[in-house]
Amino acid sequence: MRKIFFIFLSLISISAFSQTYFIHCGRLIDGISNQVQPEMTVIVVGNKITDIRKGYSAAEAGAQVIDLKNKTVMPGLMDAHVHLSGETSKNRYTEYFTLNDEDFAFRSVNYAERTLMAGFTTVRDLGGTIAVSMRNAINNGFIRGPRIISAGKSIATTGGHADPTNGVNRKLMGDPDAKDGVINSPDEAVKAVRQRYKEGSDLIKITATGGVLSNAKDGAGAHFTEEEIRAVVNTAKDYGFKVAAHAHGAEGIKRAVRAGVNSIEHGTFMDEEGMRLMKQHNTWYVPTITAGKSVADSAKIDGYYPPFVTVKALETGPKIQATFAKAYKAGVKIAFGTDAGVFAHGKNYKEFEYMVEAGMPPMEAIKSATMATAELFGMADKLGSIQKDKIADIIAVDGNPVADIKAMKDVVFVMKEGVIYKR
Ligand SMILES: [Zn+2]
Repeated sequence: MRKIFFIFLSLISISAFSQTYFIHCGRLIDGISNQVQPEMTVIVVGNKITDIRKGYSAAEAGAQVIDLKNKTVMPGLMDAHVHLSGETSKNRYTEYFTLNDEDFAFRSVNYAERTLMAGFTTVRDLGGTIAVSMRNAINNGFIRGPRIISAGKSIATTGGHADPTNGVNRKLMGDPDAKDGVINSPDEAVKAVRQRYKEGSDLIKITATGGVLSNAKDGAGAHFTEEEIRAVVNTAKDYGFKVAAHAHGAEGIKRAVRAGVNSIEHGTFMDEEGMRLMKQHNTWYVPTITAGKSVADSAKIDGYYPPFVTVKALETGPKIQATFAKAYKAGVKIAFGTDAGVFAHGKNYKEFEYMVEAGMPPMEAIKSATMATAELFGMADKLGSIQKDKIADIIAVDGNPVADIKAMKDVVFVMKEGVIYKR
């Protein structure tokens, strides 16, 4: 009864406040067609797209016209790999000892807003303890940001990439366990996944191999056994979770793919067998070229990273773009992801430039951040394209990104769920 009453109330509020927009699009990229469609009208009622018409339709009574006749309109962008809880800085490693979660949280409000204003209406936050609360704050309208799909705490092995105590002295090191996202057996893997469920995560992230920015020596070795990854994947399925696997080294990539993860993140040292396995298992590749390039740049600044990290950043970072080029040519499915946070939030557009530079046509790069990501997220029925009945996540850029991908930098209009955030 109470539930029915709430549904009734929310119906009243939708009809009372639902605004109708006639968006006049000079150029439309709908996320499905490979053609840029000139002079189109997209009609939005409330939070939904209700019609798409050829030409510029005159607005009905009570509707508002949005003039984007000089712009290119496209679906809201999606980034499959961000970390909204932080941003690169030479103080990154000491902040864990000097700041509290509240400090991280208040600072992140700005990161979330920047991400939305850059045209990214949906992101997967892959590892960060505040992202679940941030997701809720955005959904409740307390702060402005993208729709967040949150992994919560990443799951690692002892000393692995997401062990939160790497590189600290033995007094502070302790022995983090499955509850803290550190596992050492299939049984503990089960517990760690269930703990993420209890904490309100939307998907599971594991660090299948070493990583670049953890203060530990190994950046690419296979740290999870295949049995441990299988235990993560099987338990995740019980809760409707997808699994994203951070992996740099070839062996760790193969174990994760064979164990059934949904995506490989970074994939730096992926070999031909790894690519073949990914195609066979229908695994997505989320390249994060921007992260690779920017950590290599930061590592050139004296004292920016601890010594272990400097070596790894210079060795690993610059290789991702070439791996992306090979994987793309080999036919591996690509979903757009940047690892924003490793570089400044809001500069996610750089990934488009690097993908196109490495051989992907601009239209395909845009689709990798719209329909492809929507499929990876399991949201293709609601998001990823400008089609009738989809959620009204719509953005516009100056210029024509199909002619020059650099136009993705100039986002001038952002609508999320029918609400305009930037105009
Ligand atoms: Zn990451």
